Amino acid sequence: MKFDDALEINSALAIYAHPDDNEWNSGGTIASWVRQGVEVNLVLVTNGASGSSDPDMTREKLKEIRMVEQRQAADVLGVKEVVTLGFEDGYLYPDLELRKAVAREIRRFRPDVVLTHSTERVMADFYANHPDHIAVGEVVLRSINPDASSGLMFTELWKEEGFEPFLPNAVFIGTFGFGPVFTDITETVDQKIEALKHHRSQIESPDEIETFVRERFKQIAQDQPYEYSESFHILRTNVV
Ligand SMILES: [Zn+2]
Repeated sequence: MKFDDALEINSALAIYAHPDDNEWNSGGTIASWVRQGVEVNLVLVTNGASGSSDPDMTREKLKEIRMVEQRQAADVLGVKEVVTLGFEDGYLYPDLELRKAVAREIRRFRPDVVLTHSTERVMADFYANHPDHIAVGEVVLRSINPDASSGLMFTELWKEEGFEPFLPNAVFIGTFGFGPVFTDITETVDQKIEALKHHRSQIESPDEIETFVRERFKQIAQDQPYEYSESFHILRTNVV
């Protein structure tokens, strides 16, 4: 699939902190890419065990529920493989263990592009970005330079495990707001909504989710020649 004159996408790897982050940030874009023949895989960094205020819920129970929900949501979008790294939800820090784990997956999948979180602390004027998101966004950028791309970083990944250094051509960083790059999700917004509804442990009302998604992602597309949009900042590594 030709994204633009400078970027061809045949495979993509989404790397996000929690179950449902993929669907919120890039569900419509991914569904659209899958329809155009792109292979998309998902790396889920945490176990999602903090995502509940139900007093009867436990971390052990919730992480099992959320993994099932994530697989169902991924199926709606056409995501092929979901890899769960199993770090504790809410306790993520961009340390060496996390850096190596993410670098391993980028070297394993060797995607044309990676999709991930923004490292911005305040987003779209109303959202205090979750620290786990910031940690994952930071670690993905560290993978671009140098963790996944340099042969002299984590040498054990190729010497002992066979995962050779790899540099994706671009990183799509979700801005959850207004650009600077927009993707047309008009054809796939229904899949995005259906996928989000599979995260039943995270939503009180499926109808409210649908209304919110339609309003929000239509607003993001307000200056575009189509109805619904997701938005990204694209880091291109293949232009220098
Ligand atoms: Zn999240």
